[in-house]
Amino acid sequence: MSEISQSPTQRLYRIVEEAMCTGCGLCQSLAGAENVEMCKVASGFERPVVVGELDDSVVDQIYQHCPGIVIEGMPQRLIASDSKYDETWGSYRRMTLGWASDARVRFEASTGGALTALATHLLASGEVDFVLHVKASQQHAIFGQRHLSFDAADVWEATGSRYGPAAPLIDILEILERNQPFAFIGKPCDIAALRNYARQDSRVDQLVKYWLAPVCGGFREPKAVEAYAAELGMAPDVLQHVRFRGRGCPGPTRFESTDGRVIERRYSDFWGEDEAGWSLPFRCKICPDGMAEGADLVAADSWPNCTVDTEAEAEDPGTNTIIARTVAGQALLQSAADARTLTLGKAITPRDMDSYQPHLVNKKQAAAARIEGLMAEGHLGIQHARLRLNRLGEAQGIEFNREQRDGTRQRVREGKASEACPCSGE
Ligand SMILES: Cc1cc2nc3c(=O)[nH]c(=O)nc-3n(C[C@H](O)[C@H](O)[C@H](O)COP(=O)(O)OP(=O)(O)OC[C@H]3O[C@@H](n4cnc5c(N)ncnc54)[C@H](O)[C@@H]3O)c2cc1C
Ligand code: SF4
Ligand code: SF4
Repeated sequence: MSEISQSPTQRLYRIVEEAMCTGCGLCQSLAGAENVEMCKVASGFERPVVVGELDDSVVDQIYQHCPGIVIEGMPQRLIASDSKYDETWGSYRRMTLGWASDARVRFEASTGGALTALATHLLASGEVDFVLHVKASQQHAIFGQRHLSFDAADVWEATGSRYGPAAPLIDILEILERNQPFAFIGKPCDIAALRNYARQDSRVDQLVKYWLAPVCGGFREPKAVEAYAAELGMAPDVLQHVRFRGRGCPGPTRFESTDGRVIERRYSDFWGEDEAGWSLPFRCKICPDGMAEGADLVAADSWPNCTVDTEAEAEDPGTNTIIARTVAGQALLQSAADARTLTLGKAITPRDMDSYQPHLVNKKQAAAARIEGLMAEGHLGIQHARLRLNRLGEAQGIEFNREQRDGTRQRVREGKASEACPCSGE
C-alpha cells in the first residue's frame, strides 16, 4: 500500500487493517478521545475509530509509539551491570516460584495471585498512590477495561486474567497529569506501548514506579469466545459476563447471562488441547515479546509445557513463576516477601521457563523471519530493538527461517494478516 496518498485516518487504519493493532488504547490518548475512540468494531475486537479530526503529526507520534508496529526490550539504562542475562529471556536478576500468602487471594486470582499481592503491597507500603491495570468490562462481557486501584478492595476487583480485548492506556495522558506515583500492570504489549511513549514524555519515567506484567501467549478472539458460549446455549445478546479463570488454578471458565444462568467449563476445555485451535488474533500469533522484556517484574503460570494437568486441575492452589528483571523489580519482590504478602518458593532458571512457556520461545525464535515475510508483502511489519530477534532466528538455521518467512508471506496473500477497516463500526 502506498503511504504517499494516504490520509492521516487511512494511516491509522492501516495498522488495524494489517492486523497489527494490539488494542492498547494509546492512540486514543495521543489523539484525544474526541478524535479517536476505542470501540468494539465489526471484527469483534476493540479498535481505534476516528470520530473527529486527525492530522499527520499525531499519526506520526502513533507510528513511533504503537506497540503493534514498534516493540523494544528493556531500556539499556535500566539493566544493572551485575544483572543475569539469557539470550531467550533477556536480562533478569531473580527467577523464582511464588504465590500470594493470603490463601483467599491465591484462590481467587488467575494463577497464584502474585500480581494482586504485589499491587496490594505497593499500595499498603505507600510506594505508589495507585495502580493502573484492567478489570472485567462493565459494558462488554468478554472485554477488560482500564481500572485504577487506590486500595486493596480495588485491586481485588481486578484479579484474574482477561483473555479478551482490554485497553489500559486509553487515557494515559490524563493519568500522567495527576502527577502521582503509580504502578502499571499490563500485558507485554501494553508495557511496550508505555515504554515507547516514555521516550517522548519524561513524566512516564518519573511517575511509573513499577512496571509489572503477566507473560502473554495471546488472548482468544472475541468472536470465538462468543461462538463457544453460544454452543453452550448462551447467545451473544444475553452473555453478560465471562470470567476466564481464577478460583483455583486455573479454575473454571464461567459464563453468566442477563437472565441469571451460569455455565462453567473446565479451562482446559475452553482453550482445547491443540494450540492450532486457539484462535488468537494474528498479531498475537507472531508476537515477538510475550515475555515482557520491558517490565520490572513478570508473572506467569508454572505448568510443564504450559499445559494444564487435567487430573490435578481442580486441586491446584496456583503457583506463579516470577521473573524480577530490574533492581526495582527485585527489591519489590523481596519487600513483598519480607512483609509476608508474597511467599517465595524454589529458584528456577531460564531453562525451566522454556519448559513452562515453549510457545513463547517458539514465537520469539520465529519472529524475525515472520516480520521479514510481512514486510516482503508490503506490510508495515514490526520495528524491534533489544530483543535479539535476528540472532535468535539465525540460530534456528536457514531452512527454518525460509519456512517462517514464506509461510507468513502465504498467510498475508490468503488474507490471514488482515482485518476489516474499523471505520465500518459494529
Ligand atoms: C491475555 C493473557 C495471556 C496470557 N498468556 C499466558 C501464557 O501464555 N503463559 C502463562 O504462563 N501465563 C499467561 N498469562 C498470565 C497468567 O494468566 C496470569 O496472569 C499470571 O500468571 C499472573 O497470575 P496472578 O495470579 O499473579 O494474577 P492476578 O493476581 O490474578 O492478577 C492479574 C493482573 O493482571 C491484570 N490483567 C488481567 N488481564 C489483563 C489483560 N488482558 N490486560 C492487561 N492486564 C490484565 C489484572 O488487572 C491484574 O492486575 C496470560 C495472561 C493474559 C492476560
Ligand atoms: S496497538 Fe494501541 S496505539 Fe497501536 S493502533 Fe492499536 S490501540 Fe492504537
Ligand atoms: S501475545 Fe503479544 S500482542 Fe498478543 S496480547 Fe500478548 S503481548 Fe499483546
